[in-house]
Amino acid sequence: MSATILDGAAVAAAIRERVAGEVRELAGRGVSPRLEVILVGDDPASRVYVGAKGKACAQVGIRSGTHNLAAGAGAAELASLIARLNADPDVDGILLQMPLPKPLDGRAFLDLIDPAKDVDGFHPTNVGLLHQGRPAFVPCTPAGILELLDRAGVALTGARAVVLGRSEIVGKPMAALLLARHATVTVCHTRTADLPAVCREADVLVAAAGRAALVTAAFVKPGAVVVDVGVNRVEDAALVARLYPGDTERAAGLAKRGYTLVGDVDFNAVARVAGAITPVPGGVGPLTIAGLLQNTVTAARRRRGL
Ligand code: NAD
Repeated sequence: MSATILDGAAVAAAIRERVAGEVRELAGRGVSPRLEVILVGDDPASRVYVGAKGKACAQVGIRSGTHNLAAGAGAAELASLIARLNADPDVDGILLQMPLPKPLDGRAFLDLIDPAKDVDGFHPTNVGLLHQGRPAFVPCTPAGILELLDRAGVALTGARAVVLGRSEIVGKPMAALLLARHATVTVCHTRTADLPAVCREADVLVAAAGRAALVTAAFVKPGAVVVDVGVNRVEDAALVARLYPGDTERAAGLAKRGYTLVGDVDFNAVARVAGAITPVPGGVGPLTIAGLLQNTVTAARRRRGL
């Protein structure tokens, strides 16, 4: 392996430390940032994410609460909860955990959140501001990736950047951030022709497709920086053995849990070609919650003109 490993966990720890410092500084001014999380239904994965967010808030001194509505909650109930949190001057950040159970339409409820409290950066006002290059709440995962690239000293001005995936939460905001930093950006998706050739042009390749090990060595220019956003459950033991030959820890994890988490990048093959690469786990994952903490403190500050 020749690539440098980009340690997202270490960068996330540094972000959390910075946020904790900002929380202490705000306390001196009588301000105590507060995040409120709305969870609808009882999806086990969402419960885990919400729990992790609450714990992370506590660790840096951010107050947080969870509002758990029943899976059958009506649109009116959810809308009135959002309205109440919007109107509460003591609430700085509101996070609506996705996905919502059917038939609730997530998009419609994200649109109801006060843009000044939209710490996920999903409200159209914040999306628009981001695309205009003006201060906005930036979605947590791409914001964290940009900080990871900056701390690793990756030059973005003039670089060819390729973002694989065009979702609202990762691909599109990532492309906007890279463009604002003067990279020449290409966004790929399921209908991109000759995907490997387009990706091979990248100095910086961000893979956010949600397809296990889609990005092989053939997608990567020698020396490129490869950021793997994907988190994919893989249960196929033969595939895991092919992707991670001799990795007894992975094999043991797979045997114990019945699955293992694999990124969008064939890590071992790509690490032989790339200049730098994020692992899964321990790469992009930890940056997302760190970004949420940062956005919550920023919201507390901005709402008071500090
Ligand atoms: P999504 O399903 O909303 O979007 C995936 C995008 O990739 C789409 O635009 C689609 O066109 C494109 N795509 C899918 N398959 C493709 C293929 N074969 N070829 C070319 N393009 C293809 O997913 P998302 O919400 O953006 O998440 C992407 C991945 O990142 C998922 O694995 C998700 O779990 C992970 N994720 C991780 C974090 C984190 O904190 N690490 C945060 C968000 C998402």
